[in-house]
Amino acid sequence: MSQHKPTELIDDIWISDGFDLHMPGRTGTYIINEEELAIIDTGPSLSVPYIKESIEFLGRDLTDVRYIIVTHVHLDHAGGAGLLIKDCPNAKVVVHPRGAKHLAHPERLIQGAKAVYGSQFDSFFAPVYPVDEDKIMTASHEETISLSKERTLTFLNTPGHANHHFSMVDSKSKGIFTGDTIGIQYYEGKRLGKEMYVPTTSPNHFDPDKMLESLSLLLSYKPTRIFFGHYGMTTHISEVKRQIESWIPIFMELGYEAYEKGEDHTFLATRIHRAVSNHYGIDHLTDDHLLHQIIQLDAHISAMGIIDYIRK
Ligand SMILES: [Zn+2]
Repeated sequence: MSQHKPTELIDDIWISDGFDLHMPGRTGTYIINEEELAIIDTGPSLSVPYIKESIEFLGRDLTDVRYIIVTHVHLDHAGGAGLLIKDCPNAKVVVHPRGAKHLAHPERLIQGAKAVYGSQFDSFFAPVYPVDEDKIMTASHEETISLSKERTLTFLNTPGHANHHFSMVDSKSKGIFTGDTIGIQYYEGKRLGKEMYVPTTSPNHFDPDKMLESLSLLLSYKPTRIFFGHYGMTTHISEVKRQIESWIPIFMELGYEAYEKGEDHTFLATRIHRAVSNHYGIDHLTDDHLLHQIIQLDAHISAMGIIDYIRK
């Protein structure tokens, strides 16, 4: 196998494709190649070998890794942290204060992911190792860490997708790492010339109002670029705002409609998938096209989160 290579986005920020769900362009790990090497979102354990090869490609060593930051503790972002830190003796895992206990004791995360992914859990996420408590560092709203003289990351509390979610503003690129807070950029869509930003409303903390508030908070920092958990970077900030602000009420309307008819999340997932496909004009692609596969899976998970929110 040839060496896996990360791609530089800007200012020593690299992205390493993690092949989460065994798909390219699904979930990315960002590597900030500074004096204090920082990694943002490990992805699941299956992504860890790619991260290691990327670090090697950059001419750095695993002993250089100081921070393994997880935007939130869902396994597609943080599931590999326990595995990666085994080989990074100088690193701490940085997490939202509400996520720390789940890293140390991942049983509930595993249960939650099994409820969503069913029989595919092992193939996507196993193994999930706990992180030793003395390797966990929490960062609260507006706390900062310094990666070099020229670069700091500022943490912002950004609920909406999950209550244990923070985002980071990078002082050098003036970009923000948003995890899943303000949705997904469909990389596969980008390759087809479509700019697609869609919210991700997973169970069981999804809250549409908090999601919109977090979007406003992040935009108040006037970012020049957004680094999404799924997948990659965009500089089209006003387009992200426009699309996410228009999708959230549509998702909720479809959710209430389904709920009032007594339909379940499978029905809602189909409606969401159809709405997204129609809107972006991708109906003509075959059902087994990678883009449809990804949207279908996301619609399924988002539908579960919306129904869960409405039931509360
Ligand atoms: Zn995610």
